[in-house]
Amino acid sequence: MTKSRSPLKKIPAILSIPEKASVLFNHVRKLRLPLERNFSGREFGLLLAAVLILIVSAAVRPLAAYRTIACLVAVLLCFPSIFLSAWRLVWQKQVPAEEISLVLAALLAVLLKEFLPAALFFIFVSLFRLMQGYALLHRDAELDRFQEEKEAYYPILSRWDAEESRHGAAVYSVCFGVFLVFCLIGAVSLVLTLFHLDDPAGWLHSAMIAFALASPSTACYSVLLIHFGTACSAARADIVYSDDRVPEDYRKCRLFAFSKTGTVTDGKYVISEIAPVGISETELLRIAAIAEYKSQHPIAKTLKEAVGLRDGSSLEDLITVNEIPGKGISTFYAGHQIYVGNGTLLDEHGIWFAVPAKSGSAIHVAVDNTYRGYIMISDAIRESAFDALEELREAGANTLVMLTGDVRSTARALASSLNFDMVKPELTPAEKGTAVKYLRSVHGDDASIACVGDGYQDAEMFEESDISVCLEAPPDCTAEVRIFSGDILAIPKSFRICRNASRMLIISLAVSAAVKAILFFLGMLSLAPDAVVLTAVSIVGMLLMVYALLSFRID
Ligand code: ADP
Ligand code: MG
Repeated sequence: MTKSRSPLKKIPAILSIPEKASVLFNHVRKLRLPLERNFSGREFGLLLAAVLILIVSAAVRPLAAYRTIACLVAVLLCFPSIFLSAWRLVWQKQVPAEEISLVLAALLAVLLKEFLPAALFFIFVSLFRLMQGYALLHRDAELDRFQEEKEAYYPILSRWDAEESRHGAAVYSVCFGVFLVFCLIGAVSLVLTLFHLDDPAGWLHSAMIAFALASPSTACYSVLLIHFGTACSAARADIVYSDDRVPEDYRKCRLFAFSKTGTVTDGKYVISEIAPVGISETELLRIAAIAEYKSQHPIAKTLKEAVGLRDGSSLEDLITVNEIPGKGISTFYAGHQIYVGNGTLLDEHGIWFAVPAKSGSAIHVAVDNTYRGYIMISDAIRESAFDALEELREAGANTLVMLTGDVRSTARALASSLNFDMVKPELTPAEKGTAVKYLRSVHGDDASIACVGDGYQDAEMFEESDISVCLEAPPDCTAEVRIFSGDILAIPKSFRICRNASRMLIISLAVSAAVKAILFFLGMLSLAPDAVVLTAVSIVGMLLMVYALLSFRID
């Protein structure tokens, strides 16, 4: 970023004085916006007025009349900025209720001749507003940084405005409800004052405390910041949650169902054995590769690579290709019907096939209903798969299940080496969906289930899950949690971020509610000095704002 130089240096000397004035005016006008965001007129007015009250009331301690005048001057000083901000809220079709309750509290403090508390109240409210302004600036800066550095996530992040979010909206309505209750207490106390005109101080005092504590902005801003901070923390690790509902639902998941190929394994198959029947090894491989020509399955890619068949090379005789998810391929090529896939596929067409002596995944090939042999393939477990699953357990997952289309022997060996709690092999993608339904019925309806896959033929499984997690994240991926780095360790991380963020939300809402309740009772029963009650609420608000900023760095 280029540093802005003094505006005066940029004004050419040849300009006439009115022209110079106009250039200067434009500079000032452009500067106004960041200035307003950094230190808006309202905060400045509040702070100035408060300091003034303090100085004046301290200087003219013996003369009560001066103190009252000083307070009135302070309130008048604050009034234009408060009026302007309230007007801006009206303009945005929001109710400026919070400012009204602040002004009422201040007026009541003046009426009660509580000069020091009123002054401190002004100072700390404005400091708190400054802190809020800083937090929002931080949020915008973070968003700008993503726009520059990780453009792909920007559109999703910019939608993450808590004001539109479901949970954000719920918290807002609760906060508004609490605000109304405090205002009602204040209003009732004011009405009761009319019946106790001989000694109104007690009820006025109650009204002042109620109005001063009514402001809901600590909770609202904390929620807004933590929501957005969560999304930013995730995006920094190349994890994107599709919307703000995701972290809340994701953190409830205890059961994780993993797809195997390309998810816990790297999907890079190696051919370990070729067993042709009546043809040569090369012919068997070539037939399999041609049949797989249009498939994007990791197995298809391996077979094509093995014979050097590249995507895009033209196979004119290729007539029909039918991919049978979880089983294999049926292709009609140069007048021949070819089947390439697992035993189930050949069984379905009544074709005999050899059972390999070694356990593992065999891809069988049949041409015109004649068995032509098998190709043994295996893919390696992803490097950090074991650690990722352990981290997931540490973060709170209690059941890890593997759902795979691969054969029982391969699936079992892999599941036991990775400590899966359960494994269901030989499933088609549709059956994986049914398996998730079954898991839900076994674990109770309220057990949330996260399904993790590489996004290839995982649609049915994702459909039945509460949260779908897509490793690798292909462009058409619609999963709720998308991991762009393809790093398996990002799976536990994506879960941990949600769990930590939700803890932060609970802590900050609980602290702000508890502090407000405690201060309310201390204030109402006059158990603590008013100065303490009125300043504590803003100080705690500021601390919670700092705490909320930590959400931008959840690991
Ligand atoms: P996973 O559930 O582990 O992701 P898939 O559902 O992708 O596995 O595949 C399951 C099994 O179906 C494979 O192990 C393979 O035997 C067979 N299969 C699926 N697609 C193909 C294909 N394009 N070519 C050959 N075999 C396939
Ligand atoms: Mg798969």
